[in-house]
Formats: sequence, structure tokens, C-alpha cells
Amino acid sequence: MITPTARFAPSPTGPLHLGSLLAAVGSYLDARAAGARWLVRIEDLDTPRVVPGCADGMLRTLETFGFEWDGDVLYQSTRRSDYHDALLRLTAAGRTFRCSCSRKDLAVDDDAGGYPGTCRSGPTKSGPTSTRFRVSDGPIHFDDLFLGRQAFDLAACGDVVIERRDGLASYQLAVVVDDAFQQVTRVVRGADLLSSTPWQMDLQRALSLPQPIYGHLPLLLEPDGAKLSKSRRSLPLDPSRAASALFSTLTHLSQSPPPELAHSSIKEVWKWAIRHWNPQALAGKAKVHLSA
Ligand SMILES: [Zn+2]
Repeated sequence: MITPTARFAPSPTGPLHLGSLLAAVGSYLDARAAGARWLVRIEDLDTPRVVPGCADGMLRTLETFGFEWDGDVLYQSTRRSDYHDALLRLTAAGRTFRCSCSRKDLAVDDDAGGYPGTCRSGPTKSGPTSTRFRVSDGPIHFDDLFLGRQAFDLAACGDVVIERRDGLASYQLAVVVDDAFQQVTRVVRGADLLSSTPWQMDLQRALSLPQPIYGHLPLLLEPDGAKLSKSRRSLPLDPSRAASALFSTLTHLSQSPPPELAHSSIKEVWKWAIRHWNPQALAGKAKVHLSA
């Protein structure tokens, strides 16, 4: 019997902001309501973008906000050999190819998918290469905890980079290997990662790894519907106003906290939120607008 396990997995490339708080709170409430363990994983693999001291700051912020995680924090920078093993297994199974396309060569935004298969039969030019995962043919679907039935066409998602030109494992591969390593059964995260889920599920199938349940939380948007501005995203959470930020986050998560809770302590807000967690309130909500 596997213990239900959830995780929060921030990248230490900037302080936690309102959007990351929403993902952390949603994941935490889902986990506590499901009786699951809640783990923290620091995704510090993209070393060129990692900000020194940022991970420690994140953990302190989570503590100030009253999060209690289970077990030790896992750092992806300690996990490189496992990512490499997974890459070798995929290669042995004929599921990888070297790709010489640069970002500029591709007319599409690679992170959003749609690689046209240029190098499927070998690199098309000399120079550095990345390694791509050859996606399966056909559709992939899953029942999202909040968004309901989701269906994707893997061919349209395109082959995804699993090892970058600089030799680092890509986000997609590392997440899949670590979710299995940590026996994660519930992945609750922001809807900005919804388009990554088909790749991650296809990688799990190719590596014969168990598939977690997925739930994608609404994206926080500016009042005019624009993506959360850089200034708001780089605004660190204020520890001295943790209880009120937590209260606002519950509102963003459609949990309808009673107004009097706005002036309560962190402990009281959590107590109410865990007791009243209502995932149905998030049904079909892919975005939420901040008030002006
Ligand atoms: Zn290519």
C-alpha cells in the first residue's frame, strides 16, 4: 500500500510570489484533505538561472506562512545520476534522438510544444545537440482533479527536449524521475504546467513508472486579464502580512473564507481552510483575475 503523497516543487530563480503561494496552498490543502504526505522539492537543476540563497529564502517563507512539510527537502541538483540513468533507458528503448535545432531554427516556442520532427532521423547540422524524447503516436487523456477530462494529441505536442545542449536534464525528465523517486501520487500545481502533463505522462509510460493523479490550479492574472506582470511576480511575499496573504489566496482559490477570518492568525486561517477545503469550487476554473 503506497502512502498518498503530494509535493510542492518551486524553482529557486526568484522569491515566492502570489502565484507560487496559490500553487503551494492548493497543493497543501489537497494533500491535507486527502491525508497525504506533503513534500517540498527544490528544482535547482537549471543552474545558470538559480539565484544563490533563494532556496533557503523560499523554505523560510514557507515556514513563516505555516506550511509543515514531511521528510527532508529534496534538491534536484543532487539527483543528476538518476536523470542520466533514465535518459540511457529511453535511449536503449529507441525513444530518443539528437537534435541540432537551435531555438532560432524553430518557428515555434519550444516550451509550448510543436517541434516539427526535423531531426527525427539524425541531426540536420553540425554543432551542439540536445536530446529529444520521441513522443508516442495518438491521444493521451486524464481526469484533472479540478478541470475535468483533458485530452491532448501527442503528435501535436511534439518531441520534447529531455537533455539540453549544456548537458543538463530538462525540467520534463527531472520531474518525472523525481515524482516516481518520491512516490508522489498527487500532483497539484498551476495551470501554466497543464501543457507539460501529456509529455510527463508519456515519459512515465515509456519508463514504466506509476502515474500520479493531476490537478491544475487556476492561473493568477492581472485585473485586465494579462499574465501576472513581472513586477508582481518578482514581488516577494511579505512575511509580516502572511495571514492576510493566505486569506486572499483562499479567495483566489474560490474557497469563500468568512470575512472575519481576514483578521485571524495564520494558525486560525489554516485550521479553517483545511476543515473547509472545497475542491468542487475550483471546477473548470483555469484562471482568476486579481483585483485592481
Ligand atoms: Zn532538431
